[in-house]
Amino acid sequence: MIRFTLACDNDHHFESWFASNAACDKLMSAGMVECTTCGSTDIKKTLMAPAVPKKGNITPTQNPIEKLRAEVEANSEYVGGSFATQARDMHDGLMDEKPIYGEANAADTKKLIEDGVPILPLPFVPTKKVN
Ligand SMILES: [Zn+2]
Repeated sequence: MIRFTLACDNDHHFESWFASNAACDKLMSAGMVECTTCGSTDIKKTLMAPAVPKKGNITPTQNPIEKLRAEVEANSEYVGGSFATQARDMHDGLMDEKPIYGEANAADTKKLIEDGVPILPLPFVPTKKVN
């Protein structure tokens, strides 16, 4: 259930409960919501007060891992599953070095580290980008 503060065309405000946002819209467009003061069916929703986060909640920008993710994603190129290949090619001088991030399986990661390719496991799953 969701509660909306509604207003009629005569600017009467009243509250009403609905099963969902969609149900509220449906009932209003069907003229089934009446102003409790004047009976008008020209009703619109008023803005709901924004939710205030509970004290002590960590928002994404304050979370150090999210901050790291944002920095990595802003400054590096996402190469997805070709990470291991590209990291190795850069290490071997086969392609220009650039900051990249992506996904590699455990075996590839182990091999890269053994071969001295400077890689760093990230403490998050990268946001997949479609480029
Ligand atoms: Zn009214």
